[in-house]
Amino acid sequence: ESLIQKLNETIENIPDFPIPGILFRDITPIFLNSKLYEEVIEDLAHFSRGKVDAVCGIESRGFLFGIAIAVALDVPFVLIRKKGKLPPPFISEKYELEYGTSEVEMREGHLKPGQRVLIHDDLLATGGTTEAAARLVEKQGAKATQFSFLIGLNGLKGEQKLEQFNAEIYKILT
Ligand code: 5GP
Repeated sequence: ESLIQKLNETIENIPDFPIPGILFRDITPIFLNSKLYEEVIEDLAHFSRGKVDAVCGIESRGFLFGIAIAVALDVPFVLIRKKGKLPPPFISEKYELEYGTSEVEMREGHLKPGQRVLIHDDLLATGGTTEAAARLVEKQGAKATQFSFLIGLNGLKGEQKLEQFNAEIYKILT
């Protein structure tokens, strides 16, 4: 059985969460199966091995895989958090949501100029969050050279939004 098949059987699709009309992909059953979790990490690490100098994970599900990818690759891990969680010094980047705006933050100085960076999150939808994360990376003089996701939703133009970064994109499932 392939990893894709196993994930399709494991990830739960929850209708009308968090609001009516949204089909929520719940990845948390992956953590009930440590062997499957290891396989996911190895698959994601394989995509990035030898190609990046640091990994950024996006709060909060991006942390659950990102830090394990970084350990597997033996490179630093840097957290990208929602506004208000990190102590100073930090840098911020605003981005548009369907209604209103949101903001992500990163500790200043944890990425070094010139580093090639993987940005990881569990799911790519519109790409707004990941785009803001990549801007934070650029503000530190580093470069987002890879993006990886467990799931990339088609039809929401997430990949198009990331084209500007000329980076490799990998998603295990669509
Ligand atoms: P985007 O900024 O690409 O529109 O949204 C992606 C962000 O929303 C990611 O941080 C992701 O964790 C979260 N997200 C949106 N929809 C889902 C979903 O159905 N399942 C999960 N696990 N996360 C989601």
